[in-house]
Amino acid sequence: MTTLIRGARVLGGDPADVLVKDGRIAAIGERLQVPGADVVDADGLVALPGLVDLHTHLREPGREDAETVETGSRAAALGGYTAVHAMANTDPVADTAGVVEQVWRLGQQAGLVDVVPVGAVTVGLRGERLAELGAMADSAARVRVFSDDGHCVADPALMRRALEYVKAFDGVVAQHAEEPRLTAGAQMNEGERSARLGLAGWPAAAEEAVIARDVLLAQHVGARLHVCHVSTAGSVDILRWAKARGVQVTAEVTPHHLLLTEACAESYDPVFKVNPPLRTDEDVQALRAGLADGTIDAVATDHAPHAVEDKESEWAQARPGMLGLQQALSVVIEALVEPGLLDWAGVADRMSVRPAAIGRLDGRGTRSQGRPLAPGEPANLLLLDPAARVAVDPAALASRSRNSPYAGRELPGRVVATFLRGEATVLDGKAVR
Ligand SMILES: [Zn+2]
Repeated sequence: MTTLIRGARVLGGDPADVLVKDGRIAAIGERLQVPGADVVDADGLVALPGLVDLHTHLREPGREDAETVETGSRAAALGGYTAVHAMANTDPVADTAGVVEQVWRLGQQAGLVDVVPVGAVTVGLRGERLAELGAMADSAARVRVFSDDGHCVADPALMRRALEYVKAFDGVVAQHAEEPRLTAGAQMNEGERSARLGLAGWPAAAEEAVIARDVLLAQHVGARLHVCHVSTAGSVDILRWAKARGVQVTAEVTPHHLLLTEACAESYDPVFKVNPPLRTDEDVQALRAGLADGTIDAVATDHAPHAVEDKESEWAQARPGMLGLQQALSVVIEALVEPGLLDWAGVADRMSVRPAAIGRLDGRGTRSQGRPLAPGEPANLLLLDPAARVAVDPAALASRSRNSPYAGRELPGRVVATFLRGEATVLDGKAVR
């Protein structure tokens, strides 16, 4: 199978032809002549490496009414993703080799993106004793990222043991940084606004205290730490300090924390309830700056589908979380590319190259000095129309859930095509299957 992508602006550069053969990028050049090739016209489109998400909730097994591996994979492909890490807070929890292999196989059957299971750090996410980390690492799913996401590994001794354990196979512990004693009953960011709205506050210090503790533990142990969904300016400061000291720490920020603020809570619309909560405008500016200067390594969606009955209720009863896969790239364009904070190569780095490196994924630029769009690399890529503007209609999304915080909002950019190892998963903006 040979495909010739005509006139794409690779990483925003001058138009070039990209030849895809046997699942790999065979050549990139001007006016390539390849008789018999399928031709995809990419005039005016930007080519980026397929996006890699470090933080996706696919809900299967257990809550297939909210999302399945297949529907979440389709949403991911439509968003330009070619790999997603599936979080472990399913039912049953992904804390054994059996469950992670089940999720991995479901991903292969759907065949739309590489579904990379995340293993739980502790049995049942209960924070009491370590799960079978080694068995999950050795399984067919080759788990390298471990997280109790949704819960914090709050016990410092247990966190230390987890860091020591994963070091043996180059794994990483992805921490949901939330000191639970400081956030009991919390509903939104703690501050003047939470007091006025009468909603219990989630203080920035509850996140920052755990990050500070964990970077010290990671340094002491000499292991890799990844911080999930960083949401405060203070967290960015701590990460910058830790990186300057050589701590092996990486971090992610979600699209919603890059665009939305706690002001959304004024509506009492539970679609804006999320954990960690939306913060202040100063936090948003610090997160954008931290992503731009590389203190924050990656954008990760924290795509969190919820069934209608779990979301369309009173604010206090609603489950936290929002959809993210299909709009992530557009939000990054609005929050960082259009204001001039990140160029297309920067987007490729923060949404594909670095997350792939953190997850230790093969064949995604990890062997070509971070150049995933180079001859010889697997053809995982997307074609983006940067001039398009699209109004978000939750009913038209591929997810089984509808809890998009961007409903009715017009966002820049449209993913026209996505290729997974040379095979189109999205063409003309529509999923191939
Ligand atoms: Zn989380």
